[in-house]
Amino acid sequence: MNHLPSDSPALPGGPFVAYSDGELVVEQVPIRKLAAQHGTPLFVYSQAAVLSALAAYQRGLAGRKSLICYAMKANSSLAILKLLADAGCGFDIVSSGELERALAAGAEPAKIIFSGVGKTRQEMRQGLQAGVGCFNVESLAELDVLNAVALESGLVAPVSIRVNPNVDAKTHPYISTGLKGNKFGIAHEDALMAYQRAAALPGLRVVGIDCHIGSQITEEAPYLEAMERVLDLVTTIEAAGIPIHHIDFGGGLGINYNGDTPPPADALWARLLARLDARGFGDRTVLIEPGRSLVGNAGVCITEVQYIKPGEQKNFCIVDAAMNDLPRPALYEAFHQIVPVQPREATAIEYDVVGPVCESGDWLGRDRALAVQAGDLLAVLSAGAYCMSMSSNYNSRPRAAEVMVDGEKSRLIRAREDVRELWRLESV
Ligand SMILES: *Cc1c(COP(=O)(O)O)cnc(C)c1O
Repeated sequence: MNHLPSDSPALPGGPFVAYSDGELVVEQVPIRKLAAQHGTPLFVYSQAAVLSALAAYQRGLAGRKSLICYAMKANSSLAILKLLADAGCGFDIVSSGELERALAAGAEPAKIIFSGVGKTRQEMRQGLQAGVGCFNVESLAELDVLNAVALESGLVAPVSIRVNPNVDAKTHPYISTGLKGNKFGIAHEDALMAYQRAAALPGLRVVGIDCHIGSQITEEAPYLEAMERVLDLVTTIEAAGIPIHHIDFGGGLGINYNGDTPPPADALWARLLARLDARGFGDRTVLIEPGRSLVGNAGVCITEVQYIKPGEQKNFCIVDAAMNDLPRPALYEAFHQIVPVQPREATAIEYDVVGPVCESGDWLGRDRALAVQAGDLLAVLSAGAYCMSMSSNYNSRPRAAEVMVDGEKSRLIRAREDVRELWRLESV
């Protein structure tokens, strides 16, 4: 099987990642050239792919009071944040590090939502002083601490309570967050009491409600179900005299890794908003927190084949990218398509594509049919989300460089780490 343009179906990331004249390109830039210029492993992103993914959400929410808060943990590169901030996005953050990053990229503080189950007092103080638009609070204990920090700071904290709608997002257990057994959110049945508590605390101002049921969701039903459950709560909470100005439906929409067919964001939101209107909540500000679906298919990770190692049971294709660069396979047994940058006219053989790290968990793909030789370049597709942002320096490996492509232009947005950076903070 050859991965040639003529007989290969559209790739995840297409049309922004595609074959052209027998080689893989990102927009108009041949990956071969970028690898020669910047080395490997290398992350390459398509600016047009990010903006196109955003445009689908913008179409879906057109004419609404709404705010798209990019969940920046998916990929927190300053260049990507700036691109999205310039396009009008706010940000969903989960740490003060992300707060500072978002501000450094030019985010408007009022468009920042501070999520996370374990905010420290220091993080709350920083968020308050920066003037974030909302704290998404996840427990009663956090309500009390945020109230105390706000009073100490002489400020009032805008809050939303993250409710756990107890719906099954039908995704990997590690990325499912809306079920009762998860650490996230306040249980549906405790939500009213939590809102009454929040409304009574002088350092807090209730502004909204939020939920986030999981990640890589490829069906519409869990969203509709969560919406119904959240709207039931809005009715109950408002009947108790606490107005809810915005409703935040979280993120979680999936992408195409290997033939996955999530609903397009515009179609999904057309249906969700129709339901919102039907239930009489069409006047509320709608917030969403997409992460993966904005950047996932916009990125590829380029790696060079180091060795071909045939074996009795398995053949190994050993590449220069590893679990430290791209941890999703090791972490969740996640699947990424792996394709040759310049396909060869040769018979494909099945390989496990593995990195050089000293762990059996260090694999990028299993049982992949490839026609490759040492020195060839491979592209790991759908690598724009939760790859670079989850990367580490395990095995003292400097982190990969990152390049942004815009049409026929490309620019380095993160230089390859210098190995000396790795022990800069250490002493003997
Ligand atoms: C991770 C996260 C998101 C984004 O999830 P995606 O699956 O990347 O869209 C949104 N909201 C919260 C609270 C999150 O933790």
